[in-house]
Amino acid sequence: MAQNSGVMEAPLRPLDAEEAMGMLREGKTVRSAMYVPLLHRCVEAGSLDDARAVHGHMVKTGTGADMFVATSLVNAYMRCGASRDARTLFDRMPEKNVVTWTALITGYTLNSQPVAALEVFVEMLEDGRYPSHFTLGATLSACSASEDVGLGKQVHGYTIKYGAESITSIGNSLCRLYTKSGSLESAMRTFRRVPDKNVITWTTMISACAEDENFVELGLTLFVDMLMDGVMPNEFTLTSVMSLCGTRLDLNLGKQVQAFCFKIGCETNLPVKNSTMYLYLRKGETEEAMRLFEGIDDVSIITWNAMISGYAQIMETAKDDLHARSRGFQALKIFRNLKWSSLKPDLFTFSSILSVCSAMMALEQGEQIHAQTIKTGFLSDVVVNSALVNMYNKCGCIEDATKAFVEMSTRTLVTWTSMISGYSQHGRPQEAIQLFEDMRFAGIKPNEITFVSVLSACSYAGLADEAERYFNMMKEEYKIEPVVDHYGCMIDMFVRLGWLDDAFSFIKRTGFEPNEAIWSSLVAGCRSHGNMELAFYAADRLLELNPKGIETYVLLLNMYISTGRWHDVARVRKLMKQEDLGILRDRSWITIKDKVYFFRANDKTHEQSDDLYQLLENLLEKAKTIGYEPYQNAELSDSEDDEKSAAGSLKHHSERLAVALGLLQTPPGATIRITKNITMCRDCHSSIKFFSLLANREIVVRDSKRLHKFKDARCSCGDFSSLL
Ligand SMILES: [Zn+2]
Ligand SMILES: [Zn+2]
Repeated sequence: MAQNSGVMEAPLRPLDAEEAMGMLREGKTVRSAMYVPLLHRCVEAGSLDDARAVHGHMVKTGTGADMFVATSLVNAYMRCGASRDARTLFDRMPEKNVVTWTALITGYTLNSQPVAALEVFVEMLEDGRYPSHFTLGATLSACSASEDVGLGKQVHGYTIKYGAESITSIGNSLCRLYTKSGSLESAMRTFRRVPDKNVITWTTMISACAEDENFVELGLTLFVDMLMDGVMPNEFTLTSVMSLCGTRLDLNLGKQVQAFCFKIGCETNLPVKNSTMYLYLRKGETEEAMRLFEGIDDVSIITWNAMISGYAQIMETAKDDLHARSRGFQALKIFRNLKWSSLKPDLFTFSSILSVCSAMMALEQGEQIHAQTIKTGFLSDVVVNSALVNMYNKCGCIEDATKAFVEMSTRTLVTWTSMISGYSQHGRPQEAIQLFEDMRFAGIKPNEITFVSVLSACSYAGLADEAERYFNMMKEEYKIEPVVDHYGCMIDMFVRLGWLDDAFSFIKRTGFEPNEAIWSSLVAGCRSHGNMELAFYAADRLLELNPKGIETYVLLLNMYISTGRWHDVARVRKLMKQEDLGILRDRSWITIKDKVYFFRANDKTHEQSDDLYQLLENLLEKAKTIGYEPYQNAELSDSEDDEKSAAGSLKHHSERLAVALGLLQTPPGATIRITKNITMCRDCHSSIKFFSLLANREIVVRDSKRLHKFKDARCSCGDFSSLL
């Protein structure tokens, strides 16, 4: 290559970047405009070294003074991640124009230094420069990134001043800023003022609506308006619309959107597929969801998470426990399959699956997941850790929960509350109260639920003065209006202490209207204390509420049967028929190893059935010799025809059968964990207390009301839980 007085001639052919860089290194001079494509190459290759080489050459040849070239270099430095080089160069530039300033602002935002970007913007104004609409757009992006809405509003003011508000890209930036900061109203106002809305404008608003369930309808209206406006949605729009359908549980609309996706050819787009699958799952169309899931070959962890959390969601809304169980089981199965894939679970996966383990009391799986979170480093995440604390508490493992709680580096209100409630449920009121005080000391503001936990701890320990103090503290210091759960704790406490008159006068004094649960607890309490007069009074008040819960009627039936008030028995039975409540279904589950076993009352379907009944009979005989006295209970039968005479024969409620299986199939000394769909009856509660002593086992039963941890013939509920 000939050198011609140091200046390179315009090349006859386009130079390849390597050649050009080689020429620079050899010290040849090039025309200033030649630098720009070279710098482009440096950016594309992400090569800071090359950019510096070009810079060195420019300095040598004096081209650096060219404002256009220097601005390109500022931009190149920024895009190679060297914001400091960019700033130094910028400061040395004798001349700058609005493009130079804008390059600096854009660059800082690009390098995750939005605050520096905003400072440059202020500097620019102080320098007497007029921002272009590109500058304003770049500054608005910096405001979004730094979540500085205050400054964003000021910049908004400038856009109005410079007449840039109606420019689509500026309008889009403003919409993004406001939606990101959660002020959808401001975003909507700005949105309406953008005359030429493009797909980004619409999608920004629609996806903001998809993230807030209060704006589902608005989101869908906007989508229709968008179509009317002739703007073609893209895959991002459709993903958001699909998730709007998911929130609204609107499968019809979802199917239309799905058809639309086919039409514009984005049905194979992963986010679209994920949200479609999620919608089917939320609607309970599990087969279709599964079919979609299995048909996705480019699955991401988001796909798996959608399936797992989808099952966790429909578990909560299932029509009965049996359905809830089978859904939870599916979620666990999917999680197991995830392990065989090449994808790694993330914190969202862990927190979803742990919530499933909590609900299913699947301790073994929960422990495995705990180990996995340690291995993958997710244990340090506060959400995952809270889910672990909750899982251990729900499974009746207070020690493990405590350990997980203590090891957390940061704790949220939810974690504190979950731990306080754990202690309270495990019959360790002093620790619950102490932790509550620790929490206040740590400067965390308790909420409504925290107070329920601390009040129930006081109730358990019979600390009437403390309970009053916390009750008042809640109202006065924290301005939390008591709700029925708080009153319920207070009533429970008076009942537990046997201060039945105080309970009734508390109701009068505070003037709240007890609900079904509170009257039920009063009925149960009065009955436990043998104050039948008050029990019958409370029962009448309870019936006046036309209770809807079948358990309530069974509670009353049991009481009337045990006191021989046959007239009332007939009255309650008649009411039950009128209310058409069906029958109380009694179900229990026990997880042994990876298998879940399910029992109904008087279940004979298990292959070891004979052994189970034999074992129960032996245990009951032994229990009788050490003080167990059977209660007479109403039958919790599975079919109407089964509804025989209630008194008399020995009942085999489902949790007893589950306990028997646990005793037979787990090693000596292992804790037995059972979940039950309804409240335990007095007789099972009493007999399982004796079983725990006779078999020398810890037996945990979580019924629909609370956790019972039986050990050495005692229960953590202190025997004053509402029982049937
Ligand atoms: Zn029972
Ligand atoms: Zn109990």
